[in-house]
Amino acid sequence: MKAIRLREGKERSLLRHHPWVFAGSVEKGKADAGETVRVEAHDGRFLAWGAYSPESQIRVRAWSFDVAERIDAAFFARRVQAAVAMRTRLGLDTNGVRLVHGETDGLPGLIVDRYDDILSAQFLFAGTERWKQAIADALLSTTGCTRLYERSDTHAREQEGLPPSTGWLRGDGSTTATLHEHGIRLTVDVAEGHKTGYYLDQRENRALFARLVKQFGAKSVLNCYSYTGGFSVAALAGGATEVVSVDSSGPALAHASAHVALNGFEPARHSVLDADVNGTLRQMLAEGRRFDAIVLDPPKFAPNAASADRASRAYKDINRLGLMLLNPGGLLLTFSCSGGISADLFHKIVAGAGMDAGVDAYLLQRLEAASDHPTTLYFPEGEYLKGLALLRR
Ligand code: SAH
Repeated sequence: MKAIRLREGKERSLLRHHPWVFAGSVEKGKADAGETVRVEAHDGRFLAWGAYSPESQIRVRAWSFDVAERIDAAFFARRVQAAVAMRTRLGLDTNGVRLVHGETDGLPGLIVDRYDDILSAQFLFAGTERWKQAIADALLSTTGCTRLYERSDTHAREQEGLPPSTGWLRGDGSTTATLHEHGIRLTVDVAEGHKTGYYLDQRENRALFARLVKQFGAKSVLNCYSYTGGFSVAALAGGATEVVSVDSSGPALAHASAHVALNGFEPARHSVLDADVNGTLRQMLAEGRRFDAIVLDPPKFAPNAASADRASRAYKDINRLGLMLLNPGGLLLTFSCSGGISADLFHKIVAGAGMDAGVDAYLLQRLEAASDHPTTLYFPEGEYLKGLALLRR
């Protein structure tokens, strides 16, 4: 077993069970991509078992802090079973569930979503890549599913120096599944959809939006960055009569229209706009259009802390425009999925946007990812999605 020796003082984060070792913390030691290594402190003390990733800034990700643990197929089976058991205990009323959420499930770099009878997975770093077949076997035997699709085609994987890899890992057939969540039906294509196919993290927020639209009697709704229209269908379910989905992806908008029909809503109550959101908001403002409810769920503007400044300005801008487009008494659900923007900072950004817009709002609720995308005490990076539900005064 190869050992990775850390520089003096660099053992602290592993001692707090944070699973990352940055390249700059390593004093000596090397291994092959994905190889299991013993990470030790400056004085040789055991810290963790981990997987080495020669090309990544995160040089080692820890599998286990227990010196007695063996990293083998049985280890991955145990971790997968524990992750799936946690979701079972959550008792979610849906067939679309995140089963493995990377570091927070003790499986760094592994994302697995279940879409009805299809599993869709991302293997995002050298360690999970190395153990892919054992993990695939564990996923199938734990869930009883027979089909597993791989969607390892992300930027994160590039940073690990790994080529993209997609396609069936187990089983084959149609890549489409039909989900039900909170009384709404959605179709997901694991080959074509974003990420593993869909944004399951917004499930509870979509349901909340339907309730708020109903409670506050919102009729006209603008869903920005709509993707396949999850929030749009939720608005229709809540009684909205005029919903506009805006996205820069034509196929996503076609899918949104199909979702409206699939759920039995009058197609005339929904329209789509294939356009850039920022420009659209400006134009709508200039035209004097106003809405009873708006959703802002943009892509990650700040993938890391370094881009937080520029991203903050971009978030502030769309939130300022969004608040100005709201009728008094209107609802705004606004989100950031950027790891580089904390919940606190996001609140400040939206407050700044309110100032600039000359608009005040009640904070109805702070929002986060659904409970099947958990964070843990020791891994604050797990907390990526944050949002606010606001009611304009
Ligand atoms: N709210 C969605 C997920 C949104 S994902 C849900 O609940 O499912 C972000 C979406 O923003 C993607 O569909 C992407 O196509 C779109 N997008 C990215 N940049 C955009 C831009 N500048 N203008 C409009 N849409 C954009």
